[in-house]
Amino acid sequence: MSVEVIVVGAGPTGLLLAAELALAGVRVRVLERHPERRPESRALTMHPRSIEVMDLRGIADRFLSLGRTVRGWHFAVLDTRLDFTRLPTRHGYTLFLAQARTEELLEARARELGVEIVRGCEVTAVRQDGEAVVVETATGQSVRAAYVVGCDGGRSVVREAAGIAFEGTDETLSGILGDFAVTDPDAVQAAGGHGLLAVPLDGGLTRFVLMDPERMRVPSAEPVTLEEFRKSMMDVAGRDFGVAEPRWLSRFGNATRLAARYRQDRILVAGDAAHIHFPASGQGLNTGLQDAMNLGWKLAAQITGWGPAGLLDSYDAERRPVGASVTANTEVQTLLLELPLLAQYRRPVQALREMLNDLLGIEAVNHRLAGMVSGIATDYGDDSPIGSRVPDLAVTLPGRPEVDHLYQLLHDGRPLLIRTAGEPATAHPHITQVTATTLESESEALLIRPDGHLAWSGPNTAADSALRAWLESPAA
Ligand SMILES: Cc1cc2nc3c(=O)[nH]c(=O)nc-3n(C[C@H](O)[C@H](O)[C@H](O)COP(=O)(O)OP(=O)(O)OC[C@H]3O[C@@H](n4cnc5c(N)ncnc54)[C@H](O)[C@@H]3O)c2cc1C
Repeated sequence: MSVEVIVVGAGPTGLLLAAELALAGVRVRVLERHPERRPESRALTMHPRSIEVMDLRGIADRFLSLGRTVRGWHFAVLDTRLDFTRLPTRHGYTLFLAQARTEELLEARARELGVEIVRGCEVTAVRQDGEAVVVETATGQSVRAAYVVGCDGGRSVVREAAGIAFEGTDETLSGILGDFAVTDPDAVQAAGGHGLLAVPLDGGLTRFVLMDPERMRVPSAEPVTLEEFRKSMMDVAGRDFGVAEPRWLSRFGNATRLAARYRQDRILVAGDAAHIHFPASGQGLNTGLQDAMNLGWKLAAQITGWGPAGLLDSYDAERRPVGASVTANTEVQTLLLELPLLAQYRRPVQALREMLNDLLGIEAVNHRLAGMVSGIATDYGDDSPIGSRVPDLAVTLPGRPEVDHLYQLLHDGRPLLIRTAGEPATAHPHITQVTATTLESESEALLIRPDGHLAWSGPNTAADSALRAWLESPAA
């Protein structure tokens, strides 16, 4: 059977995208150069919108059962924490879950839906014409498909082949991380401060993240030694906690780049292939998951033939500004972390950090930043409610007592038209239509996209014509 979409890269973005495509009935193959899943975890966090995304598909419990929730999160490691508990979501917390586990769960999900994942398969070239895309692999295979999505990370071969520029700045500083078993976790927690972050991991391990002023100009490509790590710990924290036998040591940098376009005809990019930045506030994986959620249904609609022209281009229009916002906020955070480490800026930037700590104590300010970092405030509608994220509203349906919240009606990945009175004028093969007994909304009727954003809201009497208009011009 021929493949309709090739996804390059089985990281979190590629795996979720492939699952979304398969859910919508698209034949998809993932090509991944690594023969095995990697045991190390760069990312440790799933923020509120990412958990909601999993809830939209009925799989949030899989992630929640393996992770640990923390109520507050940080911006630039400022002392005043971002308060996620006040966000308008059922999931007002960050989930600590190692990237390796997130990928394991996403891979299981993709396989359940019939996605073919080919490991040990490196893509070396991609070319396209008006009819199709052809992907070449290091083993000499060539695979043809209607579309290719590069989810192949920051050094994306797919992005390069499409001629999409990766605009931004090179690395100017680096940090180091090390995962160790420690004998005194309480002492470690107490020692966290500027320049050192200590995060408990599964299995009695602790991740130390260090910004050492003496070592922060070392290029991230240079390997980290245990000796270097210990010395930096001593210099930054005054003790090395007896760390030995690292499970993983790594250096990471602040190169910051954004793809000039997310689509070039039949080639698209998502996740780190579209945006890279310093891992401040743990946003990269989360942003990639939300790229995948935005793109999956649009690409599926394009292939299945129910999405009118314009829908697929709205992926770039909606997600590129989010990528730009994340790259900007991580650059701000990097400055707030780097400058206090430099003698000439220490005093004024500490004063700035104190001012920001104070400002974050103002609820509205805290809420604004929490909404941004958590992904909950992501809104594709500018000033209009269209494009805004729809919360998981309470709902009741006649004869369906098992349904009590809206996201349950989006598990199948289809757009949903929900109204509180009247019946659909016509059935549509790609749209779920229900009449609710109650709906926790000021609007009588809502048309909701598969990614949980609003396509239309209004009175019941206008629902049928709104659906017709949206299908004719959903990108608008
Ligand atoms: C130190 C550190 C800490 C971080 N912490 C967090 C955090 O707490 N929270 C967070 O949200 N983010 C965090 N991030 C960022 C996060 O790890 C990335 O944003 C995330 O992995 C991106 O996922 P992806 O699927 O887009 O790309 P990747 O995870 O990079 O996956 C790309 C995949 O493509 C494959 N591939 C590449 N080239 C080819 C090819 N030519 N052919 C076939 N396959 C190919 C790769 O092998 C890989 O499996 C952190 C990053 C770092 C460095």
